[in-house]
Amino acid sequence: MKLGFRNGMNYNNLDILFIHPPANINDASHTLDADVGYTNQFVAIPMGFFSMANRLDKAGYATKILNLGERVYIDKKTPIQEHIENILSIHAPRIVGMDVHWMIHAAGAMECARLIKKLSKDTHIVLGGISASFFAKEILQNYPQIDYVMVGECDEAIVDFLQEKMGTHPKLENVPNLVYRDGESIVFNDVKPPDISHDMDLTRYDLLIDAPVINPDRANISFFRGCYRNCCFCAGSREAYTRIMKRNGLGVINPEVLVDIMRKNLEKDRRNIYIYGDIRYCGSGYAQRFFEALYQSGMTNAHIVFELFELATEDYIQQWSQWARDTGNSLEVTHSPESGNIDIRRQFGKGYSNKQLLEHCQLLIDYNIPQSIYFLLGLPNQTRDTIEDTLEISNEIIRVFAEKFQISDLRHEIVSFNFMQIPDAGSTIFQNSKKFGYNFEFKNIKSLVEKLQNSQYWWQSVGYHTDTMSKNELIRSFYHIQISLLRMYHAYNFISDQQLEQRLDKYMEDKKIYERALHDGYSIR
Ligand code: SF4
Repeated sequence: MKLGFRNGMNYNNLDILFIHPPANINDASHTLDADVGYTNQFVAIPMGFFSMANRLDKAGYATKILNLGERVYIDKKTPIQEHIENILSIHAPRIVGMDVHWMIHAAGAMECARLIKKLSKDTHIVLGGISASFFAKEILQNYPQIDYVMVGECDEAIVDFLQEKMGTHPKLENVPNLVYRDGESIVFNDVKPPDISHDMDLTRYDLLIDAPVINPDRANISFFRGCYRNCCFCAGSREAYTRIMKRNGLGVINPEVLVDIMRKNLEKDRRNIYIYGDIRYCGSGYAQRFFEALYQSGMTNAHIVFELFELATEDYIQQWSQWARDTGNSLEVTHSPESGNIDIRRQFGKGYSNKQLLEHCQLLIDYNIPQSIYFLLGLPNQTRDTIEDTLEISNEIIRVFAEKFQISDLRHEIVSFNFMQIPDAGSTIFQNSKKFGYNFEFKNIKSLVEKLQNSQYWWQSVGYHTDTMSKNELIRSFYHIQISLLRMYHAYNFISDQQLEQRLDKYMEDKKIYERALHDGYSIR
């Protein structure tokens, strides 16, 4: 059905609609489940949407945010084209802004854009996010449905873009961060990172079209742009972020503004507040101002999850704990040692021993603070032996936490051992794959999108192997890890017999499909 827009039949015409696309479309399930319930559609909306929509709204533009991934996840029966027809007929956006922040959304975004253009050729489509920034040129060369890419952080540039687009004589050369076609050429405008220190609102949930269903009480706050650290697999690392997003040095939200964002979230019933980043890395002055602002905020009854980039001192944990006790809030810690093998862990600048890691777990237990620990499958130089080392320490960590906590005390699994299914494009390992021992099956956006489009199962979209682990070993290790962890949770009474059985069945069924495909000649390379 072709829709006639802006002909008097439509209502709620938007200047720009931000769409967070689904990761999987057309009944495929080529991604593993995202952390903490965000599903295989990765329905977490990139925070930049809220900041951009807020600034546009304040500048007088009609704007909304749609979590299409969540809509598709909830309503699986409706074909994606019908979802898009509905959206276009109701909201008639003049511009659609879509994220390809995480690689996993690349195919979903391209397909949604294709359908939007098919149904409404005058709607202009602009992509943004880290992955879109990295692949900006190739996207415009290969996907005619995409009109523009905006590179880097576009909190302010998006307002300039709307100003030009809505004017009678748009001058695209005036829009910072914009990448666009000019005849046969692709033009890159200069990128201007915004000053985020004092003006940032990530809480414009009123601009969401659908009230969130998944994790509706959760707020994600990243208070820095770029990173202090340089994890080689991460496109948000210091080195990769500078290269892709063109910010030299760090951008940090002032501690008072950060606390204000936390407070506003609590007021908006988002009481589970996740703070990504480690405030200790901004210097002692930052942490002190942060705690002063926390006390002044009057926040109470919030559950704060704070991240540790490295092990913490007792003083630091005590500071958090004291505040939570004094003010009636609760705490949780998240930390990523990456591996239980010290040599693998050292590659990420984390040189502490497993003994120190366990002592740190005990410190948190003494302060009654639950913790989620993250290990990763698919790391440089990882082997089946180092995976066993990691499972061994996982068992110890779960055991010590079981002495204090029960399942009802916990919001997250104590240990997660996730699979890096598709490493970040633009990350250091992506740029120096040989040096890090990676063999990628895609090097550009087109091959990535095709790989995702052609993958029905998650193991078909694994896009690499390493010099130390074949793809088959990686996939089989994933099953081995998840099954081993389930048995540990069961052994320490975090899950019941029935839960163990149900969850084991799920992995066994899934694994059977994989093994059958191999048996039937599926080539895993
Ligand atoms: S993975 Fe490493 S580099 Fe990336 S954001 Fe986290 S700490 Fe920073």
